[in-house]
Amino acid sequence: MRDVEALSAPEMEGRLSGTPGNKRAQAFIAAQFKDIGLEPLNGAFEQKFSFKKTTRGTVQDVPDAANLMALVGGTAERDRYVVVSAHYDHLGVRGGQVYRGADDNASGVAAMLAAARWFRAHPPRQSLLFVAFDAEEEGLQGARHFVAHPPVPLDRISTVVNLDMVGRGDKNVLFVTGTHHYPALKPIVEDAARGRSITITRRPCRSMSASPAFVVATANVPSGRAIPR
Ligand SMILES: [Zn+2]
Repeated sequence: MRDVEALSAPEMEGRLSGTPGNKRAQAFIAAQFKDIGLEPLNGAFEQKFSFKKTTRGTVQDVPDAANLMALVGGTAERDRYVVVSAHYDHLGVRGGQVYRGADDNASGVAAMLAAARWFRAHPPRQSLLFVAFDAEEEGLQGARHFVAHPPVPLDRISTVVNLDMVGRGDKNVLFVTGTHHYPALKPIVEDAARGRSITITRRPCRSMSASPAFVVATANVPSGRAIPR
């Protein structure tokens, strides 16, 4: 909850890509990665990139976007990766109003950081690559940059778990998408929910195409390794 509050605080200014508020969110996430004791990739937590944004016919350069990435090394298969991702950008300030994006998607980033804290203390067999994507709201730019410049070979990524808007609702319902295309994930999801106070609802996969996980999975499909084994 502390991470949700920090990321949706007024000084984050809604975390719109290319704004000072977004940079403060980058610094906050990198500081958390360091504090948790995660490993940087290629010497840094930031994967910087730029993109062009068109607003009402005007093209604008967004030069200082960044994905934040960190690793927990696997105990058995260090060169196989499960990606746990969440986008951290949001809509910024519109009409003088700060769109804080507590649910979309401070909640997902906080859940990712909570997972990172737990897995740092309990490393799994395969490596875990935590990725906070930038510019999801600008057409999944962060995820597109990630697959164009992958920090690890894409065919070594076995699964992508993307967290988005996990804070909504007061009935402990989680929407899960992707089990239609990847049925092997279904029993894993069901096992995880069993005996807990959450209800899992499966969503049709068309909502998946709006997710960074879809971008990575699509890039990964030719290798035939998108399905975990
Ligand atoms: Zn979102």
